[in-house]
Amino acid sequence: MPEGEVVHTAGKINPVKTCQPIGAMYAALGIHRCLPHSHGSQGCCAYHRMHLTRHFRDPVLASTSSFTEGASVFGGAANLKTAIKNVFEIYKPDIIAVHTTCLSETIGDDLPTIIKQSEVPEGKVVIHANTPSYQGSHITGFSNMVKAMVTYLAARDEETIRKKRVNIIPGFVNPSDMREIKRITSSLGVDMIMFPDTTNVLDSPLTAKYDMYPEGGTTVEEIRDTGNSRLTLALGAWSSNAAGAALMEKCGVPCVPLKVPIGLKATDDLIMTLKEKFDAVVPDDLTLERGQVVDTLIDTHFHYQGKKVAIYGDPDIVVPLVEFVLTMGMIPKYVITGTPGKAFEEQVGAMIEEAGIEDYIVKAEGDLFDLHQWIKEESVDLLIGNTYGKYIARTEDIPLVRVGFPILDRAVHPLMPITGYKGCLRLIEMISNALLERRDRDCLDEDYELVL
Ligand code: SF4
Repeated sequence: MPEGEVVHTAGKINPVKTCQPIGAMYAALGIHRCLPHSHGSQGCCAYHRMHLTRHFRDPVLASTSSFTEGASVFGGAANLKTAIKNVFEIYKPDIIAVHTTCLSETIGDDLPTIIKQSEVPEGKVVIHANTPSYQGSHITGFSNMVKAMVTYLAARDEETIRKKRVNIIPGFVNPSDMREIKRITSSLGVDMIMFPDTTNVLDSPLTAKYDMYPEGGTTVEEIRDTGNSRLTLALGAWSSNAAGAALMEKCGVPCVPLKVPIGLKATDDLIMTLKEKFDAVVPDDLTLERGQVVDTLIDTHFHYQGKKVAIYGDPDIVVPLVEFVLTMGMIPKYVITGTPGKAFEEQVGAMIEEAGIEDYIVKAEGDLFDLHQWIKEESVDLLIGNTYGKYIARTEDIPLVRVGFPILDRAVHPLMPITGYKGCLRLIEMISNALLERRDRDCLDEDYELVL
């Protein structure tokens, strides 16, 4: 890290994002019997699969158009047509979800036309999303692929009365979070279709039997039927709103945008929306879980109250996380996302100011180099974000609570939800314990206590 302030206006140093196809690939894995297909070179596809595999610690499969110099010069149409034919013949998916890479986007391959000219077996489907990585982030790629699910597949059957059912677009969250959102919705007695849904795909159990397509994922038929639902909940503006709006426009399904239910308020909002829209009764179990969170906040507040925290990561995770740490009485001093979208700065800034905090920095399209420079000027007590912050944590000797994507150097996290009331307890536990560990490590011998 150089001495003094370095202003960099071109490019990013240690970006808080990765490229669009990673999000598109993750979304595609949430369709049952889907093979994601990367229309570009093998290197991109290998990197994207590896990154997802390292985070989820589960194998991620995807095929590639395997561009060589020829395709790079003359376009990748022939490669994609051959790939579609071969993939259906050999790997037998129900659906192929194609995403582009920087290379195929720069060439300008016309995906809808190539797909129309391809041999697609009866009853099988090919969808596509444009995911150029010189724009947006993995969250934009996720959003584009979920929107493609709607534009290609969703349909409104005129003769069908709208089903008393909610579509839930969960956002770019772990399978455990999707599982938790489904558990909450089920416990309210509300029928749902979640799409995409990576539960039982990227958190599937070991069965001692290899299955190329695990039993999870939303079926093509279910995605088609989302057009007949009564309501859509789009969780996370950056990852889910575009698909929710497309479903509204295509099939007339009203869409309520909500935050990803991280923290007390965002979870309350999800439950109260379902309660109002579906006349649902909140079960005692959920009320009990909420009460446990409030009780825990009272029991533990002195561990974190007034502590300064830097939060970085994907906007749909960071926004509700900031809301929750404010509920906890912490001070979000620096907040960064790498994903574009000026609404981030307005939304996060408004929440922090409403809490009466004036001295803070919020930045969209920021990077970890920015964050490190700010921390050198004035440090914080805690970092919350993905694995990439570990270098700042080590250099500046600040505890790091790993939340978000990707987490490449810790285990089990994809199975542990941070959403819902259970997720609140987990976040409180991680934050409290990181600060207590730090206190144990740093205090003088005479202050070293059994009970803190
Ligand atoms: S070339 Fe583009 S799509 Fe491929 S890995 Fe790099 S940023 Fe991602």
